[in-house]
Amino acid sequence: SGFASLGLSEPILKALEEKGYLNPTPIQEQAIPTVLMGRDVLGCAQTGTGKTASFTLPMLDILSGSRARARMPRSLILEPTRELALQVAENFVQYGKHLKLNHALLIGGESMGEQRDVLTRGVDVLIATPGRLIDIFERGGLLLSDVRVLVIDEADRMLDMGFIPDIERIVSLLPTMRQTLFFSATMAPEIRRLADAFLSNPKQITV
Ligand code: AMP
Repeated sequence: SGFASLGLSEPILKALEEKGYLNPTPIQEQAIPTVLMGRDVLGCAQTGTGKTASFTLPMLDILSGSRARARMPRSLILEPTRELALQVAENFVQYGKHLKLNHALLIGGESMGEQRDVLTRGVDVLIATPGRLIDIFERGGLLLSDVRVLVIDEADRMLDMGFIPDIERIVSLLPTMRQTLFFSATMAPEIRRLADAFLSNPKQITV
């Protein structure tokens, strides 16, 4: 398929084929090789462009390539709403069906106890809304010091919903040696300022 030339591994290509995806969308074409190279991304893209797979696919590839079984999460995906977080988790399961990776969903409206229990079993990826992640972090038992890849999705909606202070706090808890992928539908000055603060020499992709 058109995905093969982007550098994704066989188990992921197989899942894409089974899902019936023939060709990458423009943002996928540009973002996937960039993320696989280890570079930061500043993506200016709306929903519907295939942006979710543009970060989920290379993240799965990176995680599956390292052998150590995770105790604490190595990747963190921040979403503004629980619905978006659920969608990302669904994508993660579908694209990762031939890999042995697991995730935890930390979102409002569900049992905090259960979400904390999942963490104790060891997870590769956290998919979270900012408020719930902070709540759980403050109760203890969650270490973010192994996070090597961070995704901040829908940054403009994060701003509209007043989540920027939470995000700044979360980023301050992560290692500075990490890869950051930052997506927003618009690049207002406040969004630019955040991108400058969180990203290091990113490839800018606008679709
Ligand atoms: P997103 O922009 O991530 O919300 O994706 C929009 C929709 O496009 C979702 O329903 C995806 O499942 C679908 N999609 C993403 N990438 C592809 C692709 N390469 N080929 C066909 N459909 C895709």
